[in-house]
Amino acid sequence: MLSNSQLTHSLLSNSPVESFSFAGREIFLKRDDLLHPAFSGNKARKFAYFLDHEFAGMTKVIGYGSAQANSLYSLSALAKLKGWLCDFYVDHIANHVRTLPTGNYAAAIANGTRVIDLSSLIAANPSLHREPKWTCQDYIEQQVLPAEPNALFVPEGGRCQYAEYGVSQLATEIETWAMQQGMSELKVFLPAGTGTTALFLNQYFVRQQIDIQVLTCAVVGGDEYLAQQFYELNPNAAEHPQILNVGKKYHFGKLYPEFYAMWQRINASDVQFELLYDPLGFMVLEKFLPQWGASPVMYIHQGGLLGNETMLPRYQRKFGKSRTTL
Ligand SMILES: *Cc1c(COP(=O)(O)O)cnc(C)c1O
Repeated sequence: MLSNSQLTHSLLSNSPVESFSFAGREIFLKRDDLLHPAFSGNKARKFAYFLDHEFAGMTKVIGYGSAQANSLYSLSALAKLKGWLCDFYVDHIANHVRTLPTGNYAAAIANGTRVIDLSSLIAANPSLHREPKWTCQDYIEQQVLPAEPNALFVPEGGRCQYAEYGVSQLATEIETWAMQQGMSELKVFLPAGTGTTALFLNQYFVRQQIDIQVLTCAVVGGDEYLAQQFYELNPNAAEHPQILNVGKKYHFGKLYPEFYAMWQRINASDVQFELLYDPLGFMVLEKFLPQWGASPVMYIHQGGLLGNETMLPRYQRKFGKSRTTL
């Protein structure tokens, strides 16, 4: 059997870089979706610290977020690799998710994760009623953790300093690759949720004084929200990635015809992309590519493909299966 550190170093690093044709030019794709079949994408990077270190006495990991979140599945995979139990708190579970589990939710349950619906739990327990209502984070911190000394708590989406460890590993891979290619500069683009991955990547390059610039776009919340997330992880704005936008506000998880059209365009290659972050990511990239001249550009494929099992049927129901219907 592989030890934890062997697993990290032999499988959870050195994802390949491929050439990819987009918007009439060549870009490079960092295939973090290929890190490991059970543990891939940027959640695997953000959780690598937990995989790579011993946590003496720990028997459980506790997280929270949406019942469809990529981080739910990744946390369940981490727990399985570590031999830990996993409790994941959600505000509510939609009926259609509960009756017909798909994607991240179904895979996490199959990994043995307990998905705990906080709203039902509180409804069934009058002593927990209060105003304002509990958030998952407050509930876990005040009601759960005091009684669970052997549990490790991971904030939503892995937004914490622990993430720096694995994201820096990603940064060194990009640095080494760029050096091998003889590049004197490189632009790295990736769409952001909490911004944790983009922030720790750019912070690494700035601190190492490497001429690699990280650019991103806000997929969850707006540009100000994303900037605020950067500040919470690092108060030094000089180390923050640059935030780009297409000038239109999109709501996270909502279905847009232009997202679906972009997804179909990029998916016409051999590479499969996901439907929550990548469509806006490539729309922003397409807008800014012409301004970047001949500078080499890398897009980071951050995984999340299991979520397509849930998102694609929603898109197909709304817009049909083929692009010509748009
Ligand atoms: C979680 C996730 C993101 C957002 O990552 P942050 O570090 O929170 O910005 C982007 N893409 C995919 C596929 C993800 O699963």
